[in-house]
Amino acid sequence: MILFLAPTISSTQISRIQDILQEHGFSGHPTEFDEQSVLVVVDPKSGCSPLDRSIQNTLFDLPGILKIAPIATSYPLVCRQIRTERSCIKTGSLNIGNGHFGIIAGPCTVESEQQVMETAIAVKKAGATGLRGGAFKPRTSPYAFQGLKEKGLQILAKAREETGLTIVTEALTPEEVPLVSEYADVIQIGTRNAQNYRLLETVGRIRKPVLLKRGFSCTLEEFLMSAEYILAGGNQQVILCERGIRTFETYTRFTLPLAIIPELQFKTHLPVVVDPSHATGRGDLVPAMGVAATAAGADGLLVEVHPNPKSALCDGQQSLTFSEFEEMVQLCQAVMPIVQRKIK
Ligand code: PEP
Ligand code: MN
Repeated sequence: MILFLAPTISSTQISRIQDILQEHGFSGHPTEFDEQSVLVVVDPKSGCSPLDRSIQNTLFDLPGILKIAPIATSYPLVCRQIRTERSCIKTGSLNIGNGHFGIIAGPCTVESEQQVMETAIAVKKAGATGLRGGAFKPRTSPYAFQGLKEKGLQILAKAREETGLTIVTEALTPEEVPLVSEYADVIQIGTRNAQNYRLLETVGRIRKPVLLKRGFSCTLEEFLMSAEYILAGGNQQVILCERGIRTFETYTRFTLPLAIIPELQFKTHLPVVVDPSHATGRGDLVPAMGVAATAAGADGLLVEVHPNPKSALCDGQQSLTFSEFEEMVQLCQAVMPIVQRKIK
């Protein structure tokens, strides 16, 4: 249940509403949604919030409540019913959601200025609207290359200056968020951090778009609850990213469950992008999965591209060359009109 509050409501009036909710065993969490003050009503035991009619009537008699949205899910701010329109995240050259298809491409990790510049120019020419590249890298081995850190962020910012492409890059810890958001346009939360709730709260407090990757062991419900953490902080600019889950299968790095695309489109207003690179771990499979994700109704793709995948410091085996990427984008563009999507 969501209570939409009048702009003129006082803090005493909000406290009064919270007290009444508490008397009935509910809690009211204040935040903002569509630039309006709201209280998310939650039953602390079940997470859901079915307020019965008599409590609703009591609340309606109080000053300051404009509307009660009778939504009873554990992710009320993320669920489809809260909005009539689907969300569209717009930042610089990147437009994702509500009919807009965004393609974010670039190397797994920022290695040098030349590597990033070359890639940025090539992917832009091919149709990408965002540039990705890790400066802070979450590596499985502590001995593997950990990224160029701030120097990497500076290179990405320079590539934006040169090409106008929106920059998407990862923050690994709450402490890194201020520095990363100084340079980046979209903050990526990686699969390993998808349930790092303090980090989710931190990006919930900023006012920049967040690309949230699905944890590779998270259920759809857990994925949406992670997104709810960010929206609960008042940041509604969340892009969901399916990047493959762990299964018993080994011929691909992870398993890409394409059915999640229409299921998420049914359950949430947030845009959904697919990362076929990490999902398959194989450059030869990436184009087919990118096209399939487009046909299944994704709002965008996140794809690893490298000037010379064989020499990449990270994830070369799943990175596309410039020409492979260009071919894939052309195929995706052929499919887009059928699913009412277009790159803007
Ligand atoms: C990445 O996109 O660079 C990355 C590390 O992805 P994931 O968190 O999905 O493994
Ligand atoms: Mn990678």
